[in-house]
Amino acid sequence: MSALISPSSLNATRESMLREIRPSNMQTNGLDEPVRRSIKELLLPLFVQVGTSAHSLRADSVGFWRRGSDRYWLPRIIFRGTPCEEPTIRLAIFAGIHGDEPAGTLALIDFLQFMEENPFLGRACHLYIYPLCNPTGYEDGTRSSRSGYDLNRQFWQGSLEPEVALIERELMQHRFDGIIALHSDDTSEGLYGFARGATMTEHLLKPALAAAQAALPVNEASIIDGFHAVNGIIHTAYDGILSAPPGTRPAPFEIILESPHHAPMDAQRHACVLALTEIVREYRRMVAYGANL
Ligand SMILES: [Zn+2]
Repeated sequence: MSALISPSSLNATRESMLREIRPSNMQTNGLDEPVRRSIKELLLPLFVQVGTSAHSLRADSVGFWRRGSDRYWLPRIIFRGTPCEEPTIRLAIFAGIHGDEPAGTLALIDFLQFMEENPFLGRACHLYIYPLCNPTGYEDGTRSSRSGYDLNRQFWQGSLEPEVALIERELMQHRFDGIIALHSDDTSEGLYGFARGATMTEHLLKPALAAAQAALPVNEASIIDGFHAVNGIIHTAYDGILSAPPGTRPAPFEIILESPHHAPMDAQRHACVLALTEIVREYRRMVAYGANL
C-alpha cells in the first residue's frame, strides 16, 4: 500500500478527509431524523496511518457488542517503539469516552504521526491507544452512549455497559505505567488537567501543560469544573471515571487532559500533541532517574 501512495498525496488525502469529518453539530436529514456521524470517516485517517506505518503501528479491536441491529467495536492501536536497553514504558491513552468530544480522537492522529516521525522519542515505548471509547455517542453527537449512560461515571462499579467492561478488562490485563484520558470542556476557555494516581503525576502534568501553552492558554481559575484548581491542575475527580483498577500497586500515573472545546480544532489538536509528547519525555526522564538511584 505504501508503495502506491506518495507522502504528499497521502497528506492531501488525510487533509481532505479531516476537513469533511471536522465535527459539526448534529444534522438532520429534513425529516427531523438525526443523521449519524460516520465512525468509519473519523477513524479512516488513523487506519491510513497504521497502514502506511513502517513497523511500529498495528490496529485491532478490543471487542465488539450489538446495539439493536448494529454492531459496534472498540478500536485499539498499539505503537511499539524501537527496543533499546532502557526499560520499556507502557502507557494507555483513551479518547472519545464522551461522544461529543472528538478533539482527542483527532489529536491522536497527529500524535501517532509525530511518534512515528520521531523514533528516538518513542524508543522502548509501548503505547496502547484507544481512540474512540464511546462509538454510539460519537455517532449521535452526545456525551452519553446510546444507552443513556455517561460512561465516565461507570468504572469499577460493576457496570454492564460493554464499552466500560472492555476497557476495564484492558486496564486489568496490561497493568499500564500510566493512563491518560483526553477530553474537552465546553465551559473552559483554557487547558487544564486532573492529576491522579501516583504522586509523580503532578510532575508530569505541570510540564505537559507548560508545553501545550505554545498552542493554547492554561485555565488559571481557582475553581474549574467545580473543583479547586492550581495553575490548571486539579487533584480530585468524579467517582466512576476511567482509572486504574482500584488498589493497583504500584499506582500508575493518571492524567485527564481537558482542552477548551470552543477553541479552534487545530489548536486543540496541537496542544494535545505537545502535552502527550512532553508526558512521554518527562516520564522517561523520571524512570531513568529512578533507575539510577
Ligand atoms: Zn469529557
